[in-house]
Amino acid sequence: MSEQPTITLATEDHGPVTLPEPSWCAGHADHRPDTARVDIAHCGPAVDCTFLGIEVFTAELVQSPYSASTIPELGGPTPGVSVWPLGRTLNPVQLYGLAAALDSYADQLRTLADQLTTILGGEGQ
Ligand SMILES: [Zn+2]
Repeated sequence: MSEQPTITLATEDHGPVTLPEPSWCAGHADHRPDTARVDIAHCGPAVDCTFLGIEVFTAELVQSPYSASTIPELGGPTPGVSVWPLGRTLNPVQLYGLAAALDSYADQLRTLADQLTTILGGEGQ
């Protein structure tokens, strides 16, 4: 079994901090040395839903290994998926629930499109 990779990041309150780097982390290219250790966060690549140039939803794996947060939905040492604009970090059950809600919403949008097509006399394009 290979050793887990680590990364060393400068912090303003604990100097250089070396910690395990999860395989899903997109890296820390934007890390700033004036970051407090508690604010170190691993983030995976963003999954965006963008329409007409507007970012409607974005989600990414996150983990804040030094966070003392006891509210999982606000992020913490346990990995989760941060969803914007919800502003919450979700566990797998919650994320499946969100996906189901979006499926239902997409169906409602199709129903609206059908209604609008009828209102416009079948000229849906
Ligand atoms: Zn990382």
